[in-house]
Amino acid sequence: MLNEFSLIEQYFLNNKKQRPDSIVGIGDDGAVTRVQPNHDLVTVTDTMVNGVHFDESTPPRAIGHKIVAVNLSDLAAMGAEPCWISLALTLPDADETWLSEFAAGLHEICQYYDCTLIGGDTTRGPLTVTVTAQGQVPAGEAITRSGAKPGDWLYVSGPLGDAGLGLDMTQQADMATGPHLQRLVERLYYPHPRVALGQTLRNVAGACIDISDGLLADLQHLLSSSGVAADIELDKIPLSLAMTETLSQDAAYKKALTAGDDYELCFTVEEHNRGRLETLTAHLKNKPICIGRITQLREPAIQFKLHGEVYELPLEYQGYNHFNNSVTAKD
Ligand code: ADP
Ligand code: MG
Repeated sequence: MLNEFSLIEQYFLNNKKQRPDSIVGIGDDGAVTRVQPNHDLVTVTDTMVNGVHFDESTPPRAIGHKIVAVNLSDLAAMGAEPCWISLALTLPDADETWLSEFAAGLHEICQYYDCTLIGGDTTRGPLTVTVTAQGQVPAGEAITRSGAKPGDWLYVSGPLGDAGLGLDMTQQADMATGPHLQRLVERLYYPHPRVALGQTLRNVAGACIDISDGLLADLQHLLSSSGVAADIELDKIPLSLAMTETLSQDAAYKKALTAGDDYELCFTVEEHNRGRLETLTAHLKNKPICIGRITQLREPAIQFKLHGEVYELPLEYQGYNHFNNSVTAKD
């Protein structure tokens, strides 16, 4: 079996192109990186645990991709350009097939976003992967959750619920069919963080959050950080064709509002910045969709409208009001 050092050398000390601002990388006691003048450093961390965030059926390549993707999604939400990651890996054993697939998924997404793996730690124990990612943003331009104001418009970056539907398809034999199966499972296993959009939103979005736990849960975080509430127009919530062709309309909206793992961005834009947003995102394949508006703080903080009328969500959705008590284990 590989020892810790040959494992690091074989799978993580890669000879892929390194960023020129990675001065000292894997192999020393610490990594040294050079931050651009007049920039702020943004640091994020996310962990994925076997049996909680993935299971034995998840391809190791997907785990390698996703642990980086979820971190880059947090950087995107802050408006930061991803630069460096470090990897803390806890493995029950050195399974070389698992490691080479995991490393391939991880290196692939890092190369795509020009993000260099600069170090980490390797330990033995129950399978757990943690990535810390760092990115840069021009000084003072990081986007936070707390900048939403009454009157701002509320946007999401793309269709919601697909990853949750993909998860059902991997877990329920009776759903594992149909023309959209592969696409939806890909959305679950290989999420695309909205890296370009996040950087475009600097100085345009008032507040931003990435949707990792479902729109209602994550929007709630943004609203409470900002001390505001929101009206959402239910029929403006974007659903993919795969979603509308697989689930009934009610089930599709429920998925879109409550399922996690989509890694789209949810953000607010002041009235006078709406044209700017449209111009700056005109070249994007997925254009942001306006789903509602920020209001003064009130209870409930999230209210729905359908064709202009207040719309009460079916009771089983109401859990979103109590997310503090009902967060899933994976949070
Ligand atoms: P130390 O004992 O000084 O912490 P380690 O033996 O843990 O050093 O690690 C040796 C080098 O390998 C360090 O540069 C560390 O950042 C890097 N490293 C360890 N594990 C990983 C990993 N899973 N991925 C990338 N780099 C790693
Ligand atoms: Mg160490």
